[in-house]
Amino acid sequence: MARYLGPVCKLCRREGEKLFLKGERCLSAKCALERRAYPPGMHGRESQFRRGRASEYSLQLREKQKVRRIYGVLERQFRRYYKEALRRKGLTGENLLIILESRLDNVVYRLGFASSRAQARQLVQHGHFYLNGRRATIPSMLLKPGDEISVRPQSRQLKYFKDLAKVLDEKDVPNWLSLDTTNLLGRVLNLPTREEIAPSINEHLIVEYYSR
Ligand code: SF4
Repeated sequence: MARYLGPVCKLCRREGEKLFLKGERCLSAKCALERRAYPPGMHGRESQFRRGRASEYSLQLREKQKVRRIYGVLERQFRRYYKEALRRKGLTGENLLIILESRLDNVVYRLGFASSRAQARQLVQHGHFYLNGRRATIPSMLLKPGDEISVRPQSRQLKYFKDLAKVLDEKDVPNWLSLDTTNLLGRVLNLPTREEIAPSINEHLIVEYYSR
């Protein structure tokens, strides 16, 4: 599956907010947005002051791009998720966020097995996880309540997972997931509600964008 390979911090600078794409670095003073809080590009610094009132379209586009970038999804797949969200019962915007949250790479990240979604994606692709007892290597797999994610027994011997096991107790896991830190085993208890997903996202703008 294709993914964005360009400079990651640029994406935060473009959206003007922290998207937490680089794990621990995002919480440190090395964060690019802390040091250069203006859009990327030759005229980025000036454009910050020249900007007038943003159009409706621009707000909708930026919100869609922001969410796409947070979850590391390219346009074509994001549009597919939107169509699936439309098909499901309930509010389309909420459905869209729930679909994104139930991706395997996102769940691995939420369980604390990785410090960013990008890292979670890589760990999944490298075959370090079992889903319901079978090896799962596709980061975009959508999970459902009752699904179990565990670290492959051979992978538990790796330094990364040994170190992780020591700090996992300190990590917060959302209420819709459960984590057995001793056995490195996570479970999806139910799909998240809107309140359990990032409040800073305005999904209505995304629905408006695709409804034009
Ligand atoms: Fe964004 Fe993290 Fe880079 Fe800061 S360090 S700009 S939050 S990806």
